[in-house]
Amino acid sequence: MIETKGKPNWCPGCGNYGIWESLKGAIKELKLKSENIVITSGIGCSSKISHWIRTYALNGLHGRALPLAEGIKLANPKLTVITCGGDGDGYAEGGNHFIHFCRSNINVKYFVHDNQIYGLTKGQPSPTSDEGFITKTTPYGTIEKAINPILLAIASGATFVARGYAGDINHLKNLMKQAIKHKGAAIIDILQPCVSFNNKNTYKWYQERIYKLEKSSDSRIEAMKIAEQWGKKIPIGIIYQSNEPTYEERIPAINNKTKPANSIKSLIDELK
Ligand code: SF4
Repeated sequence: MIETKGKPNWCPGCGNYGIWESLKGAIKELKLKSENIVITSGIGCSSKISHWIRTYALNGLHGRALPLAEGIKLANPKLTVITCGGDGDGYAEGGNHFIHFCRSNINVKYFVHDNQIYGLTKGQPSPTSDEGFITKTTPYGTIEKAINPILLAIASGATFVARGYAGDINHLKNLMKQAIKHKGAAIIDILQPCVSFNNKNTYKWYQERIYKLEKSSDSRIEAMKIAEQWGKKIPIGIIYQSNEPTYEERIPAINNKTKPANSIKSLIDELK
């Protein structure tokens, strides 16, 4: 059973509910056992998702959920390791980790609940807030450009890059299933309305713009052209996917090509 006794306390109508349902559905349909899954998360409304799914979980420091996941995966590569968190957590505090996660191709799944605002701290602009976005701390509009996480992930070497939408639970669930089955680092940037603090990127705003991609591309250049689309048309689906060796496969000790040293003494003896 994947349900917990406790229920989420997100604001009524928050997009996090759709993501929660999609993730539970993906785990159920893939018949993954709770005891073989670890969800790591950072700080933010979205990071609390790990409290309300019955798996192992590690709620870490702000922006540090990915290195936690990578350590867990290397310690026990048989586990399904998933990281959840928000756009602020992942692309600001954890921005450096995000780039290196993409280029590592470690077999961890990263689901970013992208609401284009800091919700838990009551509405400051995040790295994905559109330029000119008005908040309490930017009354004249943000003056910085928004980062494009899809472009950044493709340029950084990720092998599975997708965009989902919290308002389409079935579509998102299927994306998550494909991300979990993918061999290597998988990123889904999930458009997640924050009904309390983001009055621009609402369900209506997304529904007027999103369209579903029919197939993914294995050309980084072609995928980058799709990733550039934002504003009048916003694509959802798998944007880029390729098949490359994972980080774990390239570590001889994990790959059983060499035996790990049993002790410091045996390591020193080997080096003599
Ligand atoms: Fe969801 Fe926004 Fe409320 Fe946080 S503040 S729970 S993101 S609606």
